[in-house]
Amino acid sequence: AKSTGGGVFTVYHPRMRDGLVERLELENDLRGALERGELRLHYQPTIDLATSQVIGFEALVRWPHPVRGMINPLDFIPIAEVTGQIVPLGHWVLHEACRQAVEWSAAAGGRPLKMAVNVSVRQLDRADFAESVAQVLAETGMPADRLCLEMTESVLMTDTEANLEQLVRLKGLGLTLAIDDFGTGYSSLAYLRRFPVDTLKIDRSFVERLGVIADDTALTDTIVRLGKSLGMATVAEGIEEFGQLAALREMGCGFAQGYYFSRPIPAAEAGRLFLEGATV
Ligand code: C2E
Ligand code: CA
Ligand code: CA
Ligand code: CA
Repeated sequence: AKSTGGGVFTVYHPRMRDGLVERLELENDLRGALERGELRLHYQPTIDLATSQVIGFEALVRWPHPVRGMINPLDFIPIAEVTGQIVPLGHWVLHEACRQAVEWSAAAGGRPLKMAVNVSVRQLDRADFAESVAQVLAETGMPADRLCLEMTESVLMTDTEANLEQLVRLKGLGLTLAIDDFGTGYSSLAYLRRFPVDTLKIDRSFVERLGVIADDTALTDTIVRLGKSLGMATVAEGIEEFGQLAALREMGCGFAQGYYFSRPIPAAEAGRLFLEGATV
């Protein structure tokens, strides 16, 4: 720390510089990664709690960096959102996930496969987003009703008129919309009624403390009931233990994901899992 006079101290740390350089490097590498086709998707199964069957997957992007090793999406998605790279990146994710869904479903004799894809609010901001989704559906032959777009609650809060229009357009294509990490943002019940949302994904932070902290158990139960009373499906994320699964089943939660069933897995493995019609 050095004094700038007047008793004010600013902290200079060499790491701050590294941080910026690293960001710029990542940004640059990411552009290359997209162009060279280096990004990969992993797939985490979604389980129907009534039948214990794998009904589909959530696509989660992975970046195997040639030098740094595997980079976590939480370390590069925010950068891609700032630079706008999220738009081509998200488009690639959507296309690849739909392409795989169609392939796996065909291999399994046409058994329907639900594919969930994460969408950034930055993608939604683009006036041509719904059009680009329609184009992907047409190109890949993905039936619209098997695609679910996941977006966080912030979508419901920001620039609501434009977002509402965009969501209505997407719904018009016949796909389903999910609110991701539900319960962590500030979506009010009024927004839930206003926006054409089909599914609530209960955030892992609630599931984590199920049966441990009474308030979290009560909140989870409330979200499941809320979903039911609004005619929405509920998906619990981050199930790691049998006790959590049992509690969610009892509450009547419809679907689940989590390490208890499976971690996100590479495409080849996911394809096999679906083909076996696995009951996890
Ligand atoms: P998310 O959409 O909430 O995805 C769930 C995250 O929780 C994933 O992390 C998943 O691997 C992890 N997870 C699943 N089950 C469990 C569990 O039982 N225990 C624990 N501890 N973790 C579990 P991941 O793959 O690192 O992704 C992190 C976030 O990055 C995602 O959170 C999503 O917000 C974002 N993301 C990933 N792929 C994409 C993408 O293609 N586009 C966009 N816009 N965001 C993405
Ligand atoms: Ca998600
Ligand atoms: Ca989530
Ligand atoms: Ca989450």
